[in-house]
Amino acid sequence: MNKREFLKTTGAVVAGSMITHMTRGQQAPAPRTNWSGNLTYSTNNLQTPGTVKEVQQVVKKAIKLRALGSHHSFNAIADSTYEQVSLERLTEMTLDEKSRTVTVGGGTTYAQLAPWLDAKGYALHNLASLPGITVAGACATATHGSGMHNGNLATAVAAMEIVNADGELILLSHDKDGERFQGAVVGLGAMGVVTRITLNVLPTYKVAQSVYQDLPFDELGKHFEDIFSSGYSVSVFTDWEHHRATQVWIKRKLAPNDPNKWDPEFFGAKLSTVKLHPLADHPPESCTEQEGIPGPWYDRLPHFRIGQTPSSGQELQTEYFVPWDRGFEAVEAVEKLHGKISPHLFVTELRAIAADKLWMSMAYQRPSLAIHFTWKPEWPEVQRVLPMIEKELAPFQPRPHWGKLFTLPPARLEPCYTRLPDFRALASHYDPRGTFRNKFVETNLYGS
Ligand SMILES: Cc1cc2nc3c(=O)[nH]c(=O)nc-3n(C[C@H](O)[C@H](O)[C@H](O)COP(=O)(O)OP(=O)(O)OC[C@H]3O[C@@H](n4cnc5c(N)ncnc54)[C@H](O)[C@@H]3O)c2cc1C
Repeated sequence: MNKREFLKTTGAVVAGSMITHMTRGQQAPAPRTNWSGNLTYSTNNLQTPGTVKEVQQVVKKAIKLRALGSHHSFNAIADSTYEQVSLERLTEMTLDEKSRTVTVGGGTTYAQLAPWLDAKGYALHNLASLPGITVAGACATATHGSGMHNGNLATAVAAMEIVNADGELILLSHDKDGERFQGAVVGLGAMGVVTRITLNVLPTYKVAQSVYQDLPFDELGKHFEDIFSSGYSVSVFTDWEHHRATQVWIKRKLAPNDPNKWDPEFFGAKLSTVKLHPLADHPPESCTEQEGIPGPWYDRLPHFRIGQTPSSGQELQTEYFVPWDRGFEAVEAVEKLHGKISPHLFVTELRAIAADKLWMSMAYQRPSLAIHFTWKPEWPEVQRVLPMIEKELAPFQPRPHWGKLFTLPPARLEPCYTRLPDFRALASHYDPRGTFRNKFVETNLYGS
């Protein structure tokens, strides 16, 4: 099935209005969709400025505008009925070894940044499951990897340059702007257009990854903390069938002279001697190396390799963050729905994320377990299952991933984000006329 057919069969989450000033016989422009193809953007008016000055001019002229990253969000967070701006031409990268930071253009992806940074002897603290997303777009939604001591990717941000609604350049830094900075980093595209973003870097490191199969849920429940602490980054996959995790992916940071030994058994799970894809029946070629083979951080921390199709390619995604200390209780609550979930699911992934101070982060002041669902492209059915999951998770105050699909009403989001009133005030400061607000922001952050 190609993306077009997929779009037809899933039904677009947003039926975008196609601006077609066509004369008879002219071909309609191909619909502009997100990566998954489940959403058609509501405008064909896409600006691609080549300099920061041009970004400022685009913003000054705009009535309503949304910044667009690499299109990977599954919901309408990046959509606009007026105009979008892509910074795909702004991809410069500058390393400052003295301050141990790297500054990248607003359109730079981790796939561009990571090998370049590694070649210079540096690394980032973590990556998402795929490298092909923009740094600005990922940080805007608090995108994360896994690791008990790893904050989401936005926790590496040291400074940002933003074009505000008046077209002015604003500089915000961790060291100078305190609370205002913590509010703006996970900005959901509502503060303005991020033209440059500065990240803290570490000396480069090597990682080895191995996969264990068939971990009984009883063991997971008994040794929850130990299992997630068994590597620098640990992901537990399940299809919610047979009360077990199908796979456990363990990524270990290797110290010099590390023996890199992997036990054949791990809490009842067995070490795989072949490379695996987390989705059953998917060939593993697109995945990063396993079987304990050491490699650079950027080619092990993501599950999928640079330049390869991540995950299934034809899918929907949902994810909820719950408090870490009630993590397994939340897993058990979701497991009750296995009969409803499994028929529409490719796979669930459980990850650990350290608490942070970023106001709109799903892990704000809360060490978290993230319960993720990669769904088959069956939106009508998935749309019926999500409220059931959200009901089971209600006692845990679930915070949905800002870039994925959820059905929680704004009234239930509000109590989960205690800094939402401050965030609205900060957004109004940079954007008093609501230039950067779209329907997603109006609905979910303003409840209108
Ligand atoms: C296959 C797949 C795997 C994924 N794996 C993970 C994962 O492991 N962990 C995880 O947390 N998420 C994951 N995601 C979700 C993804 O990381 C987020 O949706 C992320 O926000 C996408 O970044 P993007 O560059 O595509 O931005 P877009 O989706 O295009 O935009 C996202 C938001 O960023 C804003 N934005 C983009 N650029 C700018 C800018 N220059 N200035 C201001 N705002 C901007 C947009 O306005 C929008 O609000 C995955 C998605 C896919 C498709």
